[in-house]
Amino acid sequence: MSIEIHDLEHTYNAGSAFSHAALKGVNLSIPEEKITAIIGQTGSGKSTLVQHLNGLLLPTAGSLEVCGFHIQPLLKIKDIKKLRKEVGLVFQFPEYQLFEETIEKDIAFGPKNFGATEEQASDLVHKILPIVGLDESYLDRSPFELSGGQKRRIAIAGILVLNPKVLVLDEPTAGLDPQGAKEMMTLFMNLNRKENKTVLLVTHDMEHVMRYCDHVIVMDQGNVLHEADVNDFFQNPDWLIQVGINPPSIIRLKLKLIENGFQIPDSILDEESLLKCIKGQVKICE
Ligand code: ADP
Ligand code: MG
Repeated sequence: MSIEIHDLEHTYNAGSAFSHAALKGVNLSIPEEKITAIIGQTGSGKSTLVQHLNGLLLPTAGSLEVCGFHIQPLLKIKDIKKLRKEVGLVFQFPEYQLFEETIEKDIAFGPKNFGATEEQASDLVHKILPIVGLDESYLDRSPFELSGGQKRRIAIAGILVLNPKVLVLDEPTAGLDPQGAKEMMTLFMNLNRKENKTVLLVTHDMEHVMRYCDHVIVMDQGNVLHEADVNDFFQNPDWLIQVGINPPSIIRLKLKLIENGFQIPDSILDEESLLKCIKGQVKICE
């Protein structure tokens, strides 16, 4: 079941002097069992948009259909709890999500909240830790004494442990070093490819969009500026640059090569094909 968003509006502090329209009538159809990137400048409404997917924010107008749930203004909390079992959201700022004294309690909170016994929850916590790249020595530590990257891993573990159908990740690799970011992205890709999870990923990293995502949504000032499959998305680098998106390095290299007289078809988007293509056009001096 795809995620359908109809005329979604969200105004913070509506009716007050601080009223701010963060989403201004968003219409989207997000494909299921794919990885969809949501990109756009800071303040464009990405976090506001994704927080509607598990009912953390409710629309001030419009509606969403997510995993068979109809989300509309004034939705009841009873229905929201069921929705949160299906849609796991990892916050942009992990400290908003962590609140228990120990990491073990923090990760176990969700399963216990959904009815797992102490023992079942503990079992799940022990299974999930290595998946996010942490070992058992972390269990008794406070989540607040960790680095930003480690906090993020705990926040991700706290969501994965619930085995949701839809994973919504708001800048999940911010604060991780390049190797850690790559491992996390590989984890999300495997959850999508092997377990058919629908993944939504808010990111600024165009290399990640190109390498791991299937579909791209560009937000701009509370509106959807553009939506495309990933291969089509990177076909028009001039447009990307115009709207302030720095294309991935392979695309930048391709542009430079074209500027220097090489003939390169639009469809070439990976290093190997690019190398093959230019090999035939290079004169090697003896
Ligand atoms: P992004 O994730 O793309 O950076 P956000 O969804 O966080 O954008 O923010 C969209 C707009 O809404 C911004 O102008 C931001 O300042 C504003 N905003 C976000 N959260 C709140 C809030 N809790 N109260 C008031 N305004 C907010
Ligand atoms: Mg954000």
